[in-house]
Amino acid sequence: MSDETTPDDVSVIVIGGGPAGLSAALFTAKNGLETTVFDTDETWMHKAHLFNYLGIGSVGGSEFMATARQQVDDFGVDRRQDEAVTAVNESDDGFSVETEDGEYEADFVVLATGANRDLADDLGCAFADDDTVDVGVDMETSVEGVYATGAMVRPEEWQAAISVGDGAAAALNILSTVKGEHYHDFDVPADAERVFGEHVAE
Ligand SMILES: Cc1cc2nc3c(=O)[nH]c(=O)nc-3n(C[C@H](O)[C@H](O)[C@H](O)COP(=O)(O)OP(=O)(O)OC[C@H]3O[C@@H](n4cnc5c(N)ncnc54)[C@H](O)[C@@H]3O)c2cc1C
Repeated sequence: MSDETTPDDVSVIVIGGGPAGLSAALFTAKNGLETTVFDTDETWMHKAHLFNYLGIGSVGGSEFMATARQQVDDFGVDRRQDEAVTAVNESDDGFSVETEDGEYEADFVVLATGANRDLADDLGCAFADDDTVDVGVDMETSVEGVYATGAMVRPEEWQAAISVGDGAAAALNILSTVKGEHYHDFDVPADAERVFGEHVAE
């Protein structure tokens, strides 16, 4: 579970609350970063039924999203459903994010808007030759502190499990940056017993 080495006031804004965005938010909130998600609920998951998500036999996409939303809410994510982000800009202290309802500041931004790459373009992120946002395995863009995940970083080959992995990779890189050393979010059976009071098979 989260330790006590995380500074109190580090903030992350995640734009897009599909599998990629909620995965990033889960990891950052769980590990003590102030995390806000803006989402307009147009995730492709509402059209999907998953048979290919490892560890889950069969689940409707909307049902999957309901569980994911509950999971991030339980870890304290400020999930602003149906609040669209209209602009993101670099500011003196990090990033300023404008929505239909207000303006917010963050130290890190995770872009998770599906195949829509407009905000990455506006921020000046480098693009690859195939018009995807250019990132490495840590999902950081050419703009330091801005991460791109999910469909925007691949021309096709779009799958929920891949988006969830992208979000996790972005979040872990943010946590490593904040903590100043490589970070693992590893829990053990005793953590589950402590949190849920349940016996967990070893
Ligand atoms: C018909 C269909 C069937 C599919 N079946 C499967 C399947 O069986 N298995 C599988 O693994 N995958 C399947 N997929 C693909 C899967 O749904 C996607 O890979 C996955 O949803 C991508 O997740 P994401 O988080 O990258 O983007 P998305 O799920 O598209 O989420 C992006 C979110 O960002 C929000 N957003 C966008 N712009 C803004 C903004 N400016 N401000 C705030 N919010 C914003 C959107 O409203 C949306 O909720 C299917 C897709 C379709 C269309």
